[in-house]
Amino acid sequence: MRCSNCQAENAENKKYCGQCGTQLPEGCPNCGAENPDGNKFCGQCGTALGGVTDTVPEAPRPQAEQEA
Ligand SMILES: [Zn+2]
Ligand SMILES: [Zn+2]
Repeated sequence: MRCSNCQAENAENKKYCGQCGTQLPEGCPNCGAENPDGNKFCGQCGTALGGVTDTVPEAPRPQAEQEA
């Protein structure tokens, strides 16, 4: 993928530009689409980005203070 800072071409699996050290945008591991930084899911195919696969289950909400 291309560095947005110096336009250097970097390998897809690189997280930082080899030229200037700028953090590269996350490429989709499934389709390779570049997604804006901060995207958790690929805009193309919906695959989770960042290699973080831990799905957060809906945590049971703590009992709210009940108004008496
Ligand atoms: Zn760069
Ligand atoms: Zn994708």
